[in-house]
Amino acid sequence: MSDNGGRAHSNDERPATLIAELTYRCVLRCPYCSNPTDCGDARYRRELETEEWVRVFHEARRLGVLQLGLTGGEPLLRRDIVELAAGARAAGLYSTLVTAATPLPRERLIELRDAGLDHVQVSIQDATPEESDRIGGTPGAFPKKIEAARTAKELGFPLTLNFVLHRHNLDRLGGMLALAEELDADRVELANTQYYGWGLHNRDALMPTREQVERSRDVFEDARLRLGSRMDLLYVIPDYFEEFPKPCMGGWGRRAIVMAPNGDAMPCQAAASIPDLTFPNVRDHSLDWIWWESETFNRFRGFEWMQEPCRSCARRDLDYGGCRCQALLLTGDARATDPVCSLSPLHDIVVQARENPELRPLVPLEYRSMKGTALSR
Ligand code: SF4
Ligand code: SF4
Repeated sequence: MSDNGGRAHSNDERPATLIAELTYRCVLRCPYCSNPTDCGDARYRRELETEEWVRVFHEARRLGVLQLGLTGGEPLLRRDIVELAAGARAAGLYSTLVTAATPLPRERLIELRDAGLDHVQVSIQDATPEESDRIGGTPGAFPKKIEAARTAKELGFPLTLNFVLHRHNLDRLGGMLALAEELDADRVELANTQYYGWGLHNRDALMPTREQVERSRDVFEDARLRLGSRMDLLYVIPDYFEEFPKPCMGGWGRRAIVMAPNGDAMPCQAAASIPDLTFPNVRDHSLDWIWWESETFNRFRGFEWMQEPCRSCARRDLDYGGCRCQALLLTGDARATDPVCSLSPLHDIVVQARENPELRPLVPLEYRSMKGTALSR
């Protein structure tokens, strides 16, 4: 499959998705946020202009991209969000607004619909107003989210609700599913926290107990049987409790491009945590060149880069050795087997982290901050 210095040029490796992180500014301060822990850095404040984003949308479509996530941070903090939705439509992309919806007034939703936005995804932090606002670090956010979700449905948008799960909310999974039912969501994503960025920073506070994980599987299975015919339900088991890792982003440089607010192109949302990577920027290069030619997108394509046990493993084209960022963050080596894998010689790092969290003292959540880490509540 590699023909030129390990570069992959086969058609099945065209990207299907562009995740456009329009800004890292956000109203909420979730302690598991996937934005980089230095999201307040000056380089990310040089956000792409409207016309630069629209050019990227057209380049993405020509490259094969079909789906666009307009995300952040909070994408609604971009004053040009309606123009960007119109740009996505003009480029022929199916666009999703990925928002904390705090606030997302009716008039703005109408403007977005009329501009061509296809789909709305609202993140909710928990089943109750008090807990949702506590986890999001922003009082008063919950009713705004509920209002926005209802309005999105009224206006005819397909609605996805996204709940990030962890030790503080996993016991209320049933309440989250009931809320989704009440809001008549079309799709519900129940994704356990990924431990990189702010999530790794808060790992000891967020790690669920094994009992919580097992109970939540039962709650989910009941809901799937009851609601599965009218709601698309997705439940992502926590990595740390699996035998094998997931194929992170469908494999490095295989299915998706993530673009930071300043135009840095990355193969995944956490890739900035790998220190020796330099990210090609769409202000300097075409997206086509970035995808096919850049060293960064080619770094972990194919199998040549792999070490044992991945290199000779029968599962290597299923999970591609797991997550490169997690491998780096836990082992210090981005080429190592993801230690989530039970075959990794360093799997004990994960076993130690997941064992008996209920026996450890409760540590406070450290909330996301644009100024670096800020301890609160
Ligand atoms: S995870 Fe929370 S803080 Fe991070 S971008 Fe989403 S809503 Fe904002
Ligand atoms: S050894 Fe590597 S390729 Fe095999 S299952 Fe584990 S992570 Fe996947």
